[in-house]
Amino acid sequence: MEAAPGIYSMGQSQGGNVHAFLLDDGSGLTLIDTLFDVDAHRILAQVQALGKTAQDIKHIVLTHAHRSHLGGVARLKELTGAPVYAHEWEADIISGDRRAQPVSILPYPPYRVYPLQVGLNLDIAKHVPIQVDHFVHEGDRIGPIQVLFAPGHSPGHLAFYWSERRALIAGDAVCTWPTFMLGWKGFMLNEKQHQVSLRRLAELDAEVLCVGHGEPLTSGAAVTLRAALYR
Ligand SMILES: [Zn+2]
Ligand SMILES: [Zn+2]
Repeated sequence: MEAAPGIYSMGQSQGGNVHAFLLDDGSGLTLIDTLFDVDAHRILAQVQALGKTAQDIKHIVLTHAHRSHLGGVARLKELTGAPVYAHEWEADIISGDRRAQPVSILPYPPYRVYPLQVGLNLDIAKHVPIQVDHFVHEGDRIGPIQVLFAPGHSPGHLAFYWSERRALIAGDAVCTWPTFMLGWKGFMLNEKQHQVSLRRLAELDAEVLCVGHGEPLTSGAAVTLRAALYR
């Protein structure tokens, strides 16, 4: 589905209803996250549906190094030749040199994501490792988006803002599945950092909100975020 002009949302039930986003700014495609499937077929189908080829993907940007978002990254890097961008705190997990930090083993709502939480705790599901080409930081621009350093869910967690579309891509800082929440508590590595990040994201005048798990909100993003944060 098109969350806003040129912002295509792709999802799958595995990986906690995980979502990735293909952005078309007219000069090439920017991919944010890579879904769960190792063969990336859902992303490639969306590229094809736009009348484009894999080589039209110019940038592969990762919000953070959790398995659900890394499924297709190795395959897509190979097919597209596009550079992969991530924060340096996540890069050595993506390259397979370090495992993702274990999250709590205690169950927290929403309980239906508990199997994923246990999987992350025990480092069960592996992704195909690849090298990150560029470390990115707050304020960097990649294609049409501006990088926002939004740690808390993980130490190098990134969010992105496409100002012309008033679209915030919040990664796992916010989710809309199984219900709208300010992140899944059982996955949160640093709640204090997370709250600071959320306040910053809520200050943006976002209309559209794309999240790592669940469908995008296509209107009223900032109002919804602020209401959840300050109620
Ligand atoms: Zn995550
Ligand atoms: Zn996630």
